[in-house]
Amino acid sequence: MTEGSSAQQDSKLNPTGTGGAASDKKGMALYTKILIGMAIGVVLGLLVGPNSSLMPQTAVGLSARALVVSSPEAVADKDAVVALATGVRDARIVEERPVASPEEAPWLQIEWTLTPALLLKQKAKGIKGAEEAAAGSMTRGWVKADADQLTRYSPIGRGIIDWTEWIGRLFLALIKMVVVPLVFFSLVVGVASLGDFRKLGRLGSRTLGFFLVTTFVAVTIGIGLANFVKPGALLTPEDRALLMSSYQESAGATVAGAANAPSFLDQVIGIVPTNPVKALAEGEMLQIIFFALMLGIALTFLKGTRAKLVVDVFDRLNDAMVMLVHIAMKLAPVGVAALLFKVVGTTGVSVLLSLLVYGLVVVLGLVLHFGITYGLTVQFGARLPFLGFLSALKEPMLVAFSTSSSSATLPVTMEACESNLKISPQIASFVLPLGATVNMDGTALYQGVAAIFIAQIYGMDLTLADQAAIVGSATLASIGAAGVPGAGLITLALVLTAVGVPTEGLALILGIDRLLDMFRTTINVVGDCTAAAFMARLEGEDIRIVTHAEDAANPDIGFEGRLDGGPHPTQPD
Ligand code: ASP
Repeated sequence: MTEGSSAQQDSKLNPTGTGGAASDKKGMALYTKILIGMAIGVVLGLLVGPNSSLMPQTAVGLSARALVVSSPEAVADKDAVVALATGVRDARIVEERPVASPEEAPWLQIEWTLTPALLLKQKAKGIKGAEEAAAGSMTRGWVKADADQLTRYSPIGRGIIDWTEWIGRLFLALIKMVVVPLVFFSLVVGVASLGDFRKLGRLGSRTLGFFLVTTFVAVTIGIGLANFVKPGALLTPEDRALLMSSYQESAGATVAGAANAPSFLDQVIGIVPTNPVKALAEGEMLQIIFFALMLGIALTFLKGTRAKLVVDVFDRLNDAMVMLVHIAMKLAPVGVAALLFKVVGTTGVSVLLSLLVYGLVVVLGLVLHFGITYGLTVQFGARLPFLGFLSALKEPMLVAFSTSSSSATLPVTMEACESNLKISPQIASFVLPLGATVNMDGTALYQGVAAIFIAQIYGMDLTLADQAAIVGSATLASIGAAGVPGAGLITLALVLTAVGVPTEGLALILGIDRLLDMFRTTINVVGDCTAAAFMARLEGEDIRIVTHAEDAANPDIGFEGRLDGGPHPTQPD
């Protein structure tokens, strides 16, 4: 039986060298910088985005259903349609022509390049003049400025967004780089140093039980609120038709994605990787977790000190991964600024407004779950002050919010739980990767609200049995959702199918989904940390909140556990 790794390398791996994710010794704390970065990203996004009056909005994008005619006068003439049902991505506004009545929106003359793909589509639709037109030539047409299928934007703003997008992508890539090795090494070391197979069984069943109960509570809160507030009843039939037409295409793609989902049994068997190297290479989280668990268990069965070498090596590699997270987090303030800049700068708010009530219900539900379910568990289960707990989790919460991915946030989450909550690496490396993959309370709650909302819009009466089916299927769908942006929306299609709500209804909520994803991912991550703290307390650990200041004053606090995989031995081996 191994004791985990025990070599003393603290001085070599002293985290102060890299500053630590938790705090910078000098100057502003990292989370303050991240917050400032977020604010800058949002403000700049608003300044260049589709609703800004600062930048000239001289370009338009049109969805496939937009009506473009050869002249405003010829609108009733079917032959005058030049781009109907084909979509135009980047068109330049040439002229704006007001109409007689002041309430009516003006006509815009737009000009765009006829790409080969566009030309093909136009020919297929039999649009006049398409047969004679040449690819690469410029085409002109007229469109109503208030057409729902039209997005007006500033080419300069869009250019700046495209030009700066790499910063956010680089930050994300740097953190994601660490996810697979970190989960693998830390889980093997964690399980191997738990030592006792029974302890693992107990921890495993308690953790999964806790995940299920909290997810169930989350969906129930969501469904309860949606039934109470009835956000779907507020939408007029006209608004509904508009929303449907602008998002139907992407909704179709989402439904098609969900339709390919394997059966439940296949999913369970699929957890066992037939080729672990492939699972690692492809980042299949559940398979990696399964393999790491089995490898850790196998190591505990090796006689004497035979496992020690492997566990020590993995432990050192794990430390190195944590250092990599620290280094990547240096880029976090700029990285989150760039991520938020892109989201805010490319999403219009007009469609969002009509969905505000639905969005507010989701956010209200998330806040309730956060305050009540997590608040009570942390306060009475983990016996930690809830506010202190949240303050220890500032960085993972901010990173989750800006990346919309619990998987990408995982390295930061693990670091905060171990350093700032003093949860042992054994528990953290078991509960958190598992949680980031299967425990998504925020996603489940949102799916509950969304399913009811869409049903209300279609005027469907859901029976109690239907509502129970939503609870069951949203619980499963949230387990099946990967911890990546937008995953919850895809598995929502499964929930809708389970209760017979039309999946085209997804079109209604697409516009606001990116925004809600940020909130639900934050809840998903806090839910995992709550579980880790509770499990650590149940295992009798002395968890406590180590503030950033304490951590900066004595960086060894919160590191001894990870470096040693157990109690601090006094002598190096
Ligand atoms: N983005 C979420 C997460 O990573 C999943 C979802 O789409 O709900 O936790």
